[in-house]
Amino acid sequence: MTQKILYSKPSITELEVEYATDAARNGWGDQCYAYINRFEKQFAEFVGTQYAIATSSCTGAMHMGLAALGIGAGDEVILADTNWIATASPITYVGATPVFVDILPDTWCLDPALVEAAITPRTKAIIATHLYGNLCEMDRLLDIGKRYGLPVIEDAAEAVGSRWHGHATGSQGIFGTFSFHGTKTMTTGEGGMFVTNDRALYDRVMTLNNHGRVPGGRQFWSDFIGFKYRISNVQAAIGCAQLERIDALVARKREIFAEYQAHLGGIAGLALNPEAPGTLNSYWMPTVVFDEALGITRDGLLAAFSRRGIDARVFFYPLSQTELFGTSEATGRRNAPNSYAIAERAINLPSYHDMSRENIETVCNVVLDLVKAHQETLTCLAS
Ligand SMILES: *Cc1c(COP(=O)(O)O)cnc(C)c1O
Repeated sequence: MTQKILYSKPSITELEVEYATDAARNGWGDQCYAYINRFEKQFAEFVGTQYAIATSSCTGAMHMGLAALGIGAGDEVILADTNWIATASPITYVGATPVFVDILPDTWCLDPALVEAAITPRTKAIIATHLYGNLCEMDRLLDIGKRYGLPVIEDAAEAVGSRWHGHATGSQGIFGTFSFHGTKTMTTGEGGMFVTNDRALYDRVMTLNNHGRVPGGRQFWSDFIGFKYRISNVQAAIGCAQLERIDALVARKREIFAEYQAHLGGIAGLALNPEAPGTLNSYWMPTVVFDEALGITRDGLLAAFSRRGIDARVFFYPLSQTELFGTSEATGRRNAPNSYAIAERAINLPSYHDMSRENIETVCNVVLDLVKAHQETLTCLAS
Protein backbone atom coordinates (compact mmCIF):
# COMPACT_ATOMS: atom_id res chain seq x y z
CA MET A 1 0.00 0.00 0.00
CA THR A 2 1.54 3.27 -1.08
CA GLN A 3 1.21 6.30 1.15
CA LYS A 4 -1.78 8.55 0.68
CA ILE A 5 -1.05 11.84 -1.10
CA LEU A 6 -2.78 14.61 0.86
CA TYR A 7 -4.15 17.64 -0.93
CA SER A 8 -2.75 20.10 1.59
CA LYS A 9 -0.68 20.25 4.74
CA PRO A 10 1.06 23.26 6.32
CA SER A 11 4.81 23.79 6.20
CA ILE A 12 5.92 24.04 9.84
CA THR A 13 9.59 24.49 10.77
CA GLU A 14 11.59 25.05 13.96
CA LEU A 15 10.87 28.79 13.60
CA GLU A 16 7.11 28.34 14.09
CA VAL A 17 7.76 25.98 17.03
CA GLU A 18 10.20 28.46 18.57
CA TYR A 19 7.83 31.45 18.32
CA ALA A 20 4.81 29.46 19.52
CA THR A 21 6.82 28.13 22.45
CA ASP A 22 7.96 31.63 23.34
CA ALA A 23 4.37 32.90 23.17
CA ALA A 24 3.15 30.03 25.36
CA ARG A 25 5.94 30.62 27.89
CA ASN A 26 6.23 34.40 27.95
CA GLY A 27 3.34 35.91 25.99
CA TRP A 28 1.17 36.85 28.93
CA GLY A 29 0.63 39.89 31.15
CA ASP A 30 2.15 42.95 29.53
CA GLN A 31 3.34 40.77 26.63
CA CYS A 32 -0.09 39.32 25.84
CA TYR A 33 -0.47 41.26 22.57
CA ALA A 34 3.20 41.34 21.53
CA TYR A 35 3.01 38.77 18.72
CA ILE A 36 -0.40 40.05 17.60
CA ASN A 37 0.93 43.60 17.22
CA ARG A 38 4.02 42.38 15.40
CA PHE A 39 1.97 40.11 13.10
CA GLU A 40 -0.37 42.96 12.15
CA LYS A 41 2.45 45.43 11.53
CA GLN A 42 4.46 43.00 9.41
CA PHE A 43 1.43 41.79 7.46
CA ALA A 44 0.45 45.39 6.61
CA GLU A 45 4.01 45.95 5.37
CA PHE A 46 3.87 42.74 3.34
CA VAL A 47 0.69 43.66 1.46
CA GLY A 48 1.45 47.38 1.40
CA THR A 49 -1.59 48.67 3.29
CA GLN A 50 -1.64 51.19 6.13
CA TYR A 51 -3.60 48.99 8.51
CA ALA A 52 -4.10 45.32 9.35
CA ILE A 53 -6.20 43.64 12.02
CA ALA A 54 -5.54 39.98 12.81
CA THR A 55 -8.71 37.94 13.36
CA SER A 56 -9.73 34.45 14.40
CA SER A 57 -10.88 33.69 10.83
CA CYS A 58 -11.37 35.19 7.39
CA THR A 59 -15.10 34.70 7.88
CA GLY A 60 -14.94 37.02 10.91
CA ALA A 61 -12.85 39.58 9.03
CA MET A 62 -15.43 39.66 6.21
CA HIS A 63 -18.33 39.88 8.68
CA MET A 64 -16.83 42.89 10.44
CA GLY A 65 -15.84 44.59 7.20
CA LEU A 66 -19.37 44.36 5.81
CA ALA A 67 -20.82 45.58 9.12
CA ALA A 68 -18.33 48.47 9.21
CA LEU A 69 -19.42 49.53 5.71
CA GLY A 70 -22.97 49.79 7.10
CA ILE A 71 -24.31 47.01 4.85
CA GLY A 72 -27.55 45.56 6.21
CA ALA A 73 -31.12 44.42 5.60
CA GLY A 74 -32.41 45.08 2.08
CA ASP A 75 -28.93 45.55 0.63
CA GLU A 76 -27.33 43.42 -2.08
CA VAL A 77 -23.72 42.33 -2.45
CA ILE A 78 -22.44 40.95 -5.77
CA LEU A 79 -20.00 38.03 -5.83
CA ALA A 80 -19.13 35.03 -7.99
CA ASP A 81 -21.36 31.97 -7.84
CA THR A 82 -18.14 29.92 -7.70
CA ASN A 83 -16.95 30.64 -4.18
CA TRP A 84 -16.27 29.08 -0.83
CA ILE A 85 -19.37 29.56 1.33
CA ALA A 86 -17.34 31.65 3.83
CA THR A 87 -17.47 34.57 1.39
CA ALA A 88 -21.27 34.51 1.12
CA SER A 89 -22.36 33.63 4.68
CA PRO A 90 -21.19 36.92 6.25
CA ILE A 91 -23.42 38.79 3.77
CA THR A 92 -26.39 37.02 5.36
CA TYR A 93 -25.03 37.65 8.90
CA VAL A 94 -25.55 41.39 8.34
CA GLY A 95 -29.01 40.75 6.82
CA ALA A 96 -28.07 41.51 3.21
CA THR A 97 -28.57 39.34 0.11
CA PRO A 98 -25.79 37.75 -1.95
CA VAL A 99 -26.26 38.23 -5.70
CA PHE A 100 -24.35 35.62 -7.67
CA VAL A 101 -22.79 36.22 -11.08
CA ASP A 102 -20.97 33.86 -13.40
CA ILE A 103 -17.23 33.36 -13.67
CA LEU A 104 -14.90 33.84 -16.61
CA PRO A 105 -14.02 30.53 -18.28
CA ASP A 106 -10.25 31.04 -17.96
CA THR A 107 -9.63 32.67 -14.55
CA TRP A 108 -12.66 31.08 -12.80
CA CYS A 109 -13.14 34.49 -11.11
CA LEU A 110 -16.15 36.79 -11.46
CA ASP A 111 -16.96 38.27 -14.88
CA PRO A 112 -16.81 42.10 -14.69
CA ALA A 113 -19.42 42.56 -17.47
CA LEU A 114 -21.89 40.45 -15.50
CA VAL A 115 -21.06 42.32 -12.30
CA GLU A 116 -22.00 45.58 -13.99
CA ALA A 117 -25.21 44.04 -15.37
CA ALA A 118 -26.19 42.82 -11.87
CA ILE A 119 -25.99 46.26 -10.23
CA THR A 120 -29.31 47.56 -8.88
CA PRO A 121 -30.20 50.52 -6.63
CA ARG A 122 -29.86 48.07 -3.70
CA THR A 123 -26.28 47.04 -4.52
CA LYS A 124 -23.90 48.11 -1.76
CA ALA A 125 -20.65 46.28 -2.58
CA ILE A 126 -18.83 43.91 -4.92
CA ILE A 127 -16.70 41.09 -3.51
CA ALA A 128 -13.81 39.96 -5.71
CA THR A 129 -12.59 36.51 -4.65
CA HIS A 130 -9.21 35.54 -6.06
CA LEU A 131 -9.94 31.86 -6.63
CA TYR A 132 -7.19 29.27 -6.04
CA GLY A 133 -4.51 31.99 -6.28
CA ASN A 134 -5.85 33.21 -9.67
CA LEU A 135 -6.53 36.92 -9.99
CA CYS A 136 -9.76 38.81 -10.56
CA GLU A 137 -9.81 41.49 -13.27
CA MET A 138 -9.03 44.20 -10.72
CA ASP A 139 -8.71 47.18 -13.09
CA ARG A 140 -12.14 46.56 -14.59
CA LEU A 141 -13.77 45.86 -11.22
CA LEU A 142 -12.26 48.96 -9.61
CA ASP A 143 -13.43 51.01 -12.59
CA ILE A 144 -16.98 49.68 -12.21
CA GLY A 145 -16.80 50.43 -8.49
CA LYS A 146 -15.73 53.99 -9.19
CA ARG A 147 -18.39 54.61 -11.85
CA TYR A 148 -21.23 53.32 -9.65
CA GLY A 149 -19.85 54.56 -6.32
CA LEU A 150 -19.59 50.99 -4.99
CA PRO A 151 -16.83 49.64 -2.75
CA VAL A 152 -14.89 46.67 -4.14
CA ILE A 153 -13.88 44.18 -1.43
CA GLU A 154 -11.11 41.65 -2.05
CA ASP A 155 -11.42 38.17 -0.57
CA ALA A 156 -7.78 37.16 -0.80
CA ALA A 157 -8.15 34.08 1.44
CA GLU A 158 -6.80 31.86 -1.34
CA ALA A 159 -4.31 34.28 -2.83
CA VAL A 160 -1.79 35.48 -0.27
CA GLY A 161 1.30 36.33 -2.31
CA SER A 162 -0.50 36.80 -5.64
CA ARG A 163 0.07 40.15 -7.33
CA TRP A 164 -1.90 42.27 -9.79
CA HIS A 165 0.40 44.63 -11.76
CA GLY A 166 2.62 45.28 -8.75
CA HIS A 167 -0.17 45.33 -6.15
CA ALA A 168 -0.49 42.59 -3.53
CA THR A 169 -3.92 40.94 -3.62
CA GLY A 170 -6.12 42.33 -0.88
CA SER A 171 -4.50 45.78 -0.99
CA GLN A 172 -6.53 47.43 -3.77
CA GLY A 173 -10.10 47.15 -2.53
CA ILE A 174 -11.78 49.23 0.20
CA PHE A 175 -10.66 46.35 2.38
CA GLY A 176 -9.16 42.90 1.89
CA THR A 177 -9.49 39.68 3.87
CA PHE A 178 -7.14 36.73 4.28
CA SER A 179 -7.44 33.26 5.81
CA PHE A 180 -4.78 31.38 7.75
CA HIS A 181 -6.77 28.16 8.00
CA GLY A 182 -4.59 25.04 8.00
CA THR A 183 -5.18 24.38 4.31
CA LYS A 184 -4.06 27.81 3.15
CA THR A 185 -0.64 28.85 1.82
CA MET A 186 0.33 30.35 5.18
CA THR A 187 -1.36 29.25 8.38
CA THR A 188 -1.94 29.94 12.04
CA GLY A 189 -4.15 26.83 12.41
CA GLU A 190 -7.24 29.02 12.32
CA GLY A 191 -6.95 32.74 11.72
CA GLY A 192 -7.45 35.61 9.35
CA MET A 193 -6.58 39.22 8.56
CA PHE A 194 -8.45 42.39 7.67
CA VAL A 195 -6.44 44.98 5.73
CA THR A 196 -7.34 48.49 4.57
CA ASN A 197 -5.97 51.93 3.78
CA ASP A 198 -9.12 53.60 5.12
CA ARG A 199 -8.53 55.00 8.60
CA ALA A 200 -12.21 55.36 9.50
CA LEU A 201 -12.97 51.79 8.41
CA TYR A 202 -9.99 50.53 10.40
CA ASP A 203 -11.20 52.36 13.52
CA ARG A 204 -14.72 50.94 13.12
CA VAL A 205 -13.48 47.37 12.72
CA MET A 206 -11.14 47.76 15.73
CA THR A 207 -14.10 48.88 17.85
CA LEU A 208 -16.43 46.23 16.40
CA ASN A 209 -13.83 43.56 17.22
CA ASN A 210 -13.78 44.70 20.84
CA HIS A 211 -17.49 44.38 21.64
CA GLY A 212 -18.19 47.97 20.62
CA ARG A 213 -15.77 49.43 23.14
CA VAL A 214 -14.20 52.65 21.88
CA PRO A 215 -10.44 52.96 22.53
CA GLY A 216 -9.86 55.30 25.48
CA GLY A 217 -13.50 54.99 26.58
CA ARG A 218 -14.79 53.94 30.01
CA GLN A 219 -13.64 50.50 31.21
CA PHE A 220 -16.09 47.67 30.43
CA TRP A 221 -18.38 50.09 28.60
CA SER A 222 -19.75 49.36 25.11
CA ASP A 223 -21.17 52.07 22.87
CA PHE A 224 -22.82 49.52 20.57
CA ILE A 225 -23.05 45.78 20.11
CA GLY A 226 -19.93 44.45 18.44
CA PHE A 227 -18.18 41.15 17.87
CA LYS A 228 -15.23 39.23 19.18
CA TYR A 229 -13.14 37.81 16.31
CA ARG A 230 -9.70 38.30 17.79
CA ILE A 231 -6.72 36.06 17.20
CA SER A 232 -4.69 34.70 20.12
CA ASN A 233 -1.08 35.63 20.78
CA VAL A 234 0.06 32.01 20.31
CA GLN A 235 -1.60 31.81 16.89
CA ALA A 236 -0.11 35.19 15.95
CA ALA A 237 3.33 33.87 16.94
CA ILE A 238 2.97 31.06 14.39
CA GLY A 239 1.76 33.69 11.90
CA CYS A 240 4.90 35.80 12.48
CA ALA A 241 7.07 32.81 11.65
CA GLN A 242 5.03 31.94 8.54
CA LEU A 243 5.19 35.56 7.39
CA GLU A 244 8.99 35.57 7.72
CA ARG A 245 8.94 32.56 5.38
CA ILE A 246 6.19 33.81 3.05
CA ASP A 247 8.44 34.28 0.03
CA ALA A 248 9.64 30.69 0.31
CA LEU A 249 6.11 29.39 0.94
CA VAL A 250 4.81 31.08 -2.21
CA ALA A 251 7.91 30.11 -4.21
CA ARG A 252 7.33 26.44 -3.33
CA LYS A 253 3.68 26.67 -4.44
CA ARG A 254 4.88 28.12 -7.73
CA GLU A 255 7.49 25.40 -8.09
CA ILE A 256 4.87 22.67 -7.54
CA PHE A 257 2.63 24.31 -10.12
CA ALA A 258 5.53 24.53 -12.58
CA GLU A 259 6.06 20.76 -12.23
CA TYR A 260 2.38 20.13 -12.92
CA GLN A 261 2.60 22.50 -15.86
CA ALA A 262 5.61 20.66 -17.25
CA HIS A 263 3.66 17.38 -17.31
CA LEU A 264 0.18 18.61 -18.17
CA GLY A 265 0.63 22.04 -19.78
CA GLY A 266 0.82 20.92 -23.38
CA ILE A 267 -1.92 18.27 -23.27
CA ALA A 268 -4.93 18.94 -25.47
CA GLY A 269 -8.17 18.98 -23.53
CA LEU A 270 -6.71 20.28 -20.25
CA ALA A 271 -6.66 23.80 -18.80
CA LEU A 272 -4.62 24.78 -15.73
CA ASN A 273 -4.61 27.96 -13.59
CA PRO A 274 -3.73 30.93 -15.81
CA GLU A 275 -1.15 33.62 -15.16
CA ALA A 276 -1.88 36.69 -17.25
CA PRO A 277 0.95 39.08 -18.20
CA GLY A 278 1.63 41.54 -15.37
CA THR A 279 0.26 39.21 -12.71
CA LEU A 280 1.80 36.74 -10.31
CA ASN A 281 -0.26 33.69 -9.37
CA SER A 282 0.58 32.17 -5.97
CA TYR A 283 -1.15 28.93 -7.08
CA TRP A 284 -2.80 28.03 -3.77
CA MET A 285 -4.57 25.16 -5.56
CA PRO A 286 -3.23 23.83 -8.84
CA THR A 287 -6.41 22.95 -10.71
CA VAL A 288 -7.18 21.04 -13.89
CA VAL A 289 -10.28 21.71 -15.95
CA PHE A 290 -11.03 18.95 -18.47
CA ASP A 291 -12.57 19.81 -21.84
CA GLU A 292 -16.26 19.13 -22.10
CA ALA A 293 -15.62 16.92 -25.16
CA LEU A 294 -13.73 14.37 -23.02
CA GLY A 295 -16.92 13.53 -21.15
CA ILE A 296 -15.19 13.35 -17.76
CA THR A 297 -17.43 13.74 -14.69
CA ARG A 298 -16.80 14.88 -11.11
CA ASP A 299 -17.55 11.42 -9.71
CA GLY A 300 -15.35 9.75 -12.30
CA LEU A 301 -12.49 12.07 -11.36
CA LEU A 302 -12.85 11.49 -7.64
CA ALA A 303 -13.00 7.73 -8.10
CA ALA A 304 -9.88 7.69 -10.30
CA PHE A 305 -7.88 9.70 -7.76
CA SER A 306 -9.05 7.83 -4.69
CA ARG A 307 -8.20 4.47 -6.35
CA ARG A 308 -4.58 5.68 -6.40
CA GLY A 309 -4.66 6.99 -2.81
CA ILE A 310 -4.72 10.64 -3.87
CA ASP A 311 -6.73 13.10 -1.83
CA ALA A 312 -7.80 15.42 -4.68
CA ARG A 313 -10.56 17.97 -4.04
CA VAL A 314 -13.66 18.79 -6.02
CA PHE A 315 -13.87 22.24 -7.59
CA PHE A 316 -16.27 24.45 -5.59
CA TYR A 317 -19.95 23.76 -6.23
CA PRO A 318 -21.79 26.91 -7.35
CA LEU A 319 -23.26 28.48 -4.20
CA SER A 320 -26.65 28.84 -5.88
CA GLN A 321 -26.75 25.04 -6.18
CA THR A 322 -26.98 24.77 -2.36
CA GLU A 323 -30.21 26.80 -2.51
CA LEU A 324 -29.24 28.34 0.85
CA PHE A 325 -29.15 31.93 -0.38
CA GLY A 326 -32.56 32.58 -1.89
CA THR A 327 -31.56 31.53 -5.44
CA SER A 328 -32.80 28.25 -6.89
CA GLU A 329 -30.54 25.86 -8.75
CA ALA A 330 -32.58 26.41 -11.92
CA THR A 331 -31.99 30.17 -11.76
CA GLY A 332 -28.35 29.57 -10.90
CA ARG A 333 -27.81 27.33 -13.91
CA ARG A 334 -29.33 29.97 -16.17
CA ASN A 335 -27.34 32.86 -14.65
CA ALA A 336 -24.00 31.14 -14.18
CA PRO A 337 -23.48 28.43 -16.80
CA ASN A 338 -19.67 28.51 -16.48
CA SER A 339 -19.83 28.05 -12.70
CA TYR A 340 -21.96 24.94 -13.16
CA ALA A 341 -20.17 23.47 -16.18
CA ILE A 342 -16.60 23.90 -14.94
CA ALA A 343 -17.36 22.48 -11.48
CA GLU A 344 -18.56 19.26 -13.10
CA ARG A 345 -15.25 18.51 -14.84
CA ALA A 346 -12.49 20.08 -12.75
CA ILE A 347 -10.35 19.00 -9.83
CA ASN A 348 -7.87 20.58 -7.38
CA LEU A 349 -4.55 18.74 -7.34
CA PRO A 350 -2.50 18.14 -4.17
CA SER A 351 0.04 20.92 -3.50
CA TYR A 352 1.48 20.72 0.00
CA HIS A 353 4.95 22.14 0.41
CA ASP A 354 6.70 18.88 1.31
CA MET A 355 5.32 16.79 -1.54
CA SER A 356 7.93 15.03 -3.65
CA ARG A 357 8.53 15.05 -7.38
CA GLU A 358 7.37 11.39 -7.43
CA ASN A 359 4.11 12.41 -5.71
CA ILE A 360 3.52 15.00 -8.43
CA GLU A 361 4.27 12.46 -11.16
CA THR A 362 1.83 9.99 -9.60
CA VAL A 363 -0.89 12.65 -9.67
CA CYS A 364 -0.06 13.63 -13.25
CA ASN A 365 -0.24 10.02 -14.38
CA VAL A 366 -3.80 9.74 -13.10
CA VAL A 367 -4.73 12.86 -15.08
CA LEU A 368 -2.96 11.62 -18.22
CA ASP A 369 -4.53 8.14 -17.94
CA LEU A 370 -7.96 9.73 -17.64
CA VAL A 371 -7.42 11.86 -20.74
CA LYS A 372 -6.14 8.85 -22.69
CA ALA A 373 -9.01 6.59 -21.66
CA HIS A 374 -11.61 9.19 -22.59
CA GLN A 375 -9.90 10.00 -25.88
CA GLU A 376 -9.94 6.31 -26.79
CA THR A 377 -13.64 6.23 -26.05
CA LEU A 378 -14.12 9.23 -28.30
CA THR A 379 -12.12 7.62 -31.12
CA CYS A 380 -14.16 4.39 -30.82
CA LEU A 381 -17.38 6.34 -30.99
CA ALA A 382 -16.18 8.27 -34.05
CA SER A 383 -15.05 5.20 -36.05
C1 LIG B 1 -10.80 29.66 3.23
C2 LIG B 1 -11.66 30.72 2.68
C3 LIG B 1 -12.40 31.59 3.50
C4 LIG B 1 -12.63 31.36 4.95
O1 LIG B 1 -11.56 31.38 5.75
P1 LIG B 1 -11.74 31.02 7.28
O2 LIG B 1 -10.44 31.51 7.85
O3 LIG B 1 -11.91 29.54 7.35
O4 LIG B 1 -12.89 31.76 7.81
C5 LIG B 1 -13.08 32.64 2.92
N1 LIG B 1 -13.07 32.83 1.60
C6 LIG B 1 -12.41 32.01 0.77
C7 LIG B 1 -12.45 32.29 -0.69
C8 LIG B 1 -11.70 30.92 1.28
O5 LIG B 1 -11.07 30.08 0.46
